[in-house]
Amino acid sequence: MTEPMTKSRTIRRVVAIEAAVLAAAATAARRRPLTAAAITAAGAAGAWAAFRPGSAVFGPVVTRGPGDVSQAALTFDDGPGPSTPAILDALADADVRATFFVLGRQARRHPAMLRRMRDEGHQIASHGYDHGILVLRGPAHVRDQLVRTEEAMADAVGTGVLTRRFRAPHGFRGPLTWAAARSAGYEVYGWTAGVFDSADPGADVVAERSVRALSPGCILLLHDADGWDPDRPREHTAAAIPGICAAAHDTGLALVTLDELVA
Ligand SMILES: [Zn+2]
Repeated sequence: MTEPMTKSRTIRRVVAIEAAVLAAAATAARRRPLTAAAITAAGAAGAWAAFRPGSAVFGPVVTRGPGDVSQAALTFDDGPGPSTPAILDALADADVRATFFVLGRQARRHPAMLRRMRDEGHQIASHGYDHGILVLRGPAHVRDQLVRTEEAMADAVGTGVLTRRFRAPHGFRGPLTWAAARSAGYEVYGWTAGVFDSADPGADVVAERSVRALSPGCILLLHDADGWDPDRPREHTAAAIPGICAAAHDTGLALVTLDELVA
């Protein structure tokens, strides 16, 4: 078991790799300008692909459902955490089922919340074990994250509840992430729209951005916890849920689980 790789550490490493790529390009430039341009372009494309959540360069990612059916999906990352019960209450009041990309680490801390998700008909999917960034990790590490989450889920709610859908922390993926997840039986998901609720901009802002983003086929990214600070609540997100559900209902948009949306 290794320490989770943080976002800043990952970015520092990628910048160092990019610097090496540029140095190689500079050396090549003296004799072969075209080769130098190709090296530079490949380096830039690699970094762009890794940090752009919907990019298909490192493997195809599901980012939306069909646009011709009046359905959309609310998805919650990083939990369960302190605000998860309030979010489940709001979803129950609105009779809406959502999808939770849970962390194995949080499943160990809050097994009762997972049982509640299951009992109330929500879909549970994997966000990895410890929220470490996977861009520079090898297949064994990615598999370990998935398997440890499966084990935590099995201990909390039994087997067969965790669906084989995976969303990488921050959506960041390296060249090996997708293949490792696929070989472990997972389909890799991104999202259509995020509303930056993790910055706690206020419930009204979260609701307003969400309502604007929701359209047929939309996979909306929200957070019921904080991947780096497990005790931090998501009160703004929780308080926004009734308004989001009511607006979707008023416009005839059914909010469903990911597996219902992406059949
Ligand atoms: Zn996350």
